Amino acid sequence: MAITYSIVAPIYNEIDNLSEFYLRIKEVMDTTGEAWELVLVDDGCTDGSTEKIRELAETDKHVRPVIFARNFGHQIAVTAGLDYARGSAVVVIDADLQDPPEIILELAKKWHEGYEVVYAIRAEREGESWFKLWTASLFYRIIYRITDVKIPLDTGDFRLMDRKVVNVMNSMRERHRFLRGMASWVGFKQIGVEYKRAARHAGVTKYPFRKMFTLALNAVTSFSYFPLQVATYVGFFAAGLAILAIPVVIYMRTTGSQAFLGQATTLIAVLFLGGVQLISLGVLGEYIGRLYDEAKGRPLYIVSEAPEEE
Ligand code: UDP
Ligand code: MG
Repeated sequence: MAITYSIVAPIYNEIDNLSEFYLRIKEVMDTTGEAWELVLVDDGCTDGSTEKIRELAETDKHVRPVIFARNFGHQIAVTAGLDYARGSAVVVIDADLQDPPEIILELAKKWHEGYEVVYAIRAEREGESWFKLWTASLFYRIIYRITDVKIPLDTGDFRLMDRKVVNVMNSMRERHRFLRGMASWVGFKQIGVEYKRAARHAGVTKYPFRKMFTLALNAVTSFSYFPLQVATYVGFFAAGLAILAIPVVIYMRTTGSQAFLGQATTLIAVLFLGGVQLISLGVLGEYIGRLYDEAKGRPLYIVSEAPEEE
């Protein structure tokens, strides 16, 4: 039977969430009366989640496990899930129950109305530190300003995508992935649905600051050349300032003024420009490193166990 809904969930050490997550998904999906599958992507779990995923797959044929050979990160895990999903509509959802499975029904409703991408907007967030809330809010706003794609604010990866959209996404094989940007970039008929983001059911966040920073960097470099252009702007500004300063200094010296005499000002100028040049080199390095990664053309992920195809 053709599958209508694929639910894709990335799993990284979520042992205390898995049973509850599965039960809530099953409860919700059974009410639709449609055929569904749950693609659980094991992103290199080390806490026994792998065994739990296998166990779920054995007891319920709705569950299809994709087991990675190591941890590849959240965005890559979701990518693999999209690759293996077979449904006419694919829903990406976190396994920690921060995205309430019940919202899937609301997303599906919009899909039935003809929308091809239905993203969930975090109207409220529970149980997260002020630091996380603040950095997240800042992140979404900076990305919105400097990227060329208008990625909806306060939207994570919790969304429903029509098969057409998933096929396009699957054809985009870049390795530094920012999926919510890619999902906006493809176009199609899109709409948002607001929801209240719950606190984690159990366990701690698998997104430490380092991973959040990498995600932000991928978001910026994948969808904007702004950091590359900053060097140009600063260059024009510094050169302009210097040109303006030349007649001023000539005037001061001819009138016998001693202002700005000495080396401190020169040193500051040299240090500042040297710093700007180094930063610009670093920015170039970021983009070139990404080019190099793309050129290597390695697989995005390595699967040690794939689900059976029937
Ligand atoms: N996750 C993953 N690989 C990682 C980090 C996270 O598959 O390297 C999964 C994690 O198990 C969860 C989802 O991605 O299902 C979101 O992660 P988390 O809840 O830790 O992020 P937060 O909600 O705190 O931003
Ligand atoms: Mg979470």
